[in-house]
Amino acid sequence: MPNSLLDTPIEHLKGVGPERAKLLKSELEIITYGDLLRWYPYRYVDRTRFYTTREISPDLPYVQLRGQILDVKIVGQKRGQRMTARFTDGVGTLELVWFQGWKWLQGKYLPGKEYIIFGKPTVFNGSMNMAHPEVEEVVEGKIQQANALQPMYSTTERMKTRGMDSKALMRMLKTLVPLIAGQVNETLPESITSKHKMLSREESLKQIHFPSTPEVLRRAETRIKFEEFLYIQLRLLRVRAQRRLNYQGFDFATVGERFNSFYKNYLPFALTDAQKRVIREIRTDIGSGKQMNRLLQGDVGSGKTVVALMCMLIAADNGFQSCLMAPTEILAVQHFHTLRDLLKDMPVHIGLLTGNTKQRERNVLHAELRSGMMQILVGTHALIEDKVQFANLGLVVIDEQHRFGVEQRSRLWRKSSRPPHILVMTATPIPRTLAMTLFGDLDSSVINELPPGRKPIKTVHFFDSQRERVFGFMREEIAKGRQIYLVYPLIQESEKMDYKDLMDGYESIARAFPPPQFQISIVHGQMKPADKDFEMQRFVKHETQIMVATTVIEVGVNVPNASVMIIESAERFGLSQLHQLRGRVGRGAEQSFCILMTGNKLSKESKLRMETMVRTNDGFEIAEVDLKLRGPGDLEGTKQSGLLGLRLADLSKDGKILELARVASAEILDRDPRLDLPEHHALRDELNREHLGNVNWSRIS
Ligand code: ADP
Ligand code: MG
Repeated sequence: MPNSLLDTPIEHLKGVGPERAKLLKSELEIITYGDLLRWYPYRYVDRTRFYTTREISPDLPYVQLRGQILDVKIVGQKRGQRMTARFTDGVGTLELVWFQGWKWLQGKYLPGKEYIIFGKPTVFNGSMNMAHPEVEEVVEGKIQQANALQPMYSTTERMKTRGMDSKALMRMLKTLVPLIAGQVNETLPESITSKHKMLSREESLKQIHFPSTPEVLRRAETRIKFEEFLYIQLRLLRVRAQRRLNYQGFDFATVGERFNSFYKNYLPFALTDAQKRVIREIRTDIGSGKQMNRLLQGDVGSGKTVVALMCMLIAADNGFQSCLMAPTEILAVQHFHTLRDLLKDMPVHIGLLTGNTKQRERNVLHAELRSGMMQILVGTHALIEDKVQFANLGLVVIDEQHRFGVEQRSRLWRKSSRPPHILVMTATPIPRTLAMTLFGDLDSSVINELPPGRKPIKTVHFFDSQRERVFGFMREEIAKGRQIYLVYPLIQESEKMDYKDLMDGYESIARAFPPPQFQISIVHGQMKPADKDFEMQRFVKHETQIMVATTVIEVGVNVPNASVMIIESAERFGLSQLHQLRGRVGRGAEQSFCILMTGNKLSKESKLRMETMVRTNDGFEIAEVDLKLRGPGDLEGTKQSGLLGLRLADLSKDGKILELARVASAEILDRDPRLDLPEHHALRDELNREHLGNVNWSRIS
């Protein structure tokens, strides 16, 4: 076993023992030497650089200074009692303070001696201060030995109270790292390490903890990140390869009468180049005899619906049924109307099935589906109820829901002798790095172009105190015949409060825009579907000018005459949600506006979100900022990324390395799909090892 040393239980390490081993296990899941080695520093502190008291500020991370301690005092009463010391480096002074554990330090720091202090500068009562610094007496000759870049390790509160802080972990690693010499096998094949001039695995593991120079540190990081990504990619691409081997897809060999006739006679506009390209990509897939699993990304308004329709017509041309699933009732109904209108002069049978469909209609629908007479079915999730049976379901389009779970999808599969082709459409742009990891086994198409003639939406940010101006603007737009959305946040945890906000807002709007001159619709989550639909329809028919709503209108709703989107408490929305909401306007020929209303006091992050929205209409750019702001673990629909087992690599920063890993894994699998070649054995073993995390890829594929 080449890795036996790394598998050694951590309590065997000198200085650890059973107590600490238990803590390491329960707090950090560190069980073996290898686990400790993979507990990478989160930061490095340059211990060769000394700051002066004049240079430091609370913006700096950990810094070190060199100087003397003037005096030490115990101040405060009872629980507030603490030890303070005045430190000087000859340039100025700095107060050091200990709130806990100072009893042990009393009498230890002597005036006149030279010390190095190390800690995080803060401001307290208007002056610079450092709490709980490390203090080390200067012993000439010793500093030179110290590592220039000192690693900092994260630990938990519980560990810290038991003396297991960053420094303690550093000491353990100082013991461990020399032991691994000659004990770490290489996992990457020579073809990769030499191509990318990578450090060996052993060298990377040493350098990541105790780097000799910043340059070598960077190389060690790159190698480790690359390897983390490589395993993910190998797994994903293997899933895809296996699916292709195991499942035959329906072969939609011909593009026939329905598709061609629609294209020639009924398509109301010219397709954009991007739409044409995507249709070609899909056609190649579904005509290949393999089952298609494709993710179609396209910004709001980019025209995904008609692409879906044309694919469904190809299915019909080949004698297959298809269905289009939407996340909400409102959207399903709207899709149904859109498609029915587009197909009104064509011999294509299309139906609608939602939770509200009456039993009698339902029975008819079921019969038509079973007989194969129904060619296109539009609906909500009601569509995958077990009672619904198709004669020959060949294509499933899932709209606006890339999180559609495999459980739900597998139910679709059961509706067909073979798995139908699957097209998942989303207007939530997924940054490339995430798409490559979370959906790396899906093929992907992108509509990166809006239909011509659209005027970019103008976005502005107003504070609540400027409300009168906004009302004035609303009156002007209504006078021009435009309609307006006014959206309130809806956050599940405080539904009641949100509801109150919405109602308060509605009342103040109703006062400012009184009938009969103005009519207002209201839609929120606590309404019955029929009432919701009634209010929606009033707005669609232009019987009302203002639609006050919670985020239920977020996805897909299409009212081209609505040209103003006002978002209340915009600071409470995430970037991608703001962008989705904005996408509800800008659908007609008129200039459209998006107005972000916020309180006067904004956090730095909220400010950046507002600025980003004002600056750009590009969904992908917004998604990238979102990813940087929130980190991958937090992004909507991407909770899974926590499961990916990334320790060092960061999806929001390491896109380049990820690309390299993706290419490398494709090359490896092309040449050696089962990793049978001797040079890939180490990789295969590592792939099968426990510590890479039992990612349930079926959940994310
Ligand atoms: P989304 O991608 O957000 O689902 P839709 O499919 O709802 O976008 O399309 C938005 C609007 O653009 C619809 O009114 C649709 O008819 C129109 N549209 C789609 N493609 C084109 C095109 N190539 N030229 C002009 N208008 C188009
Ligand atoms: Mg859509």
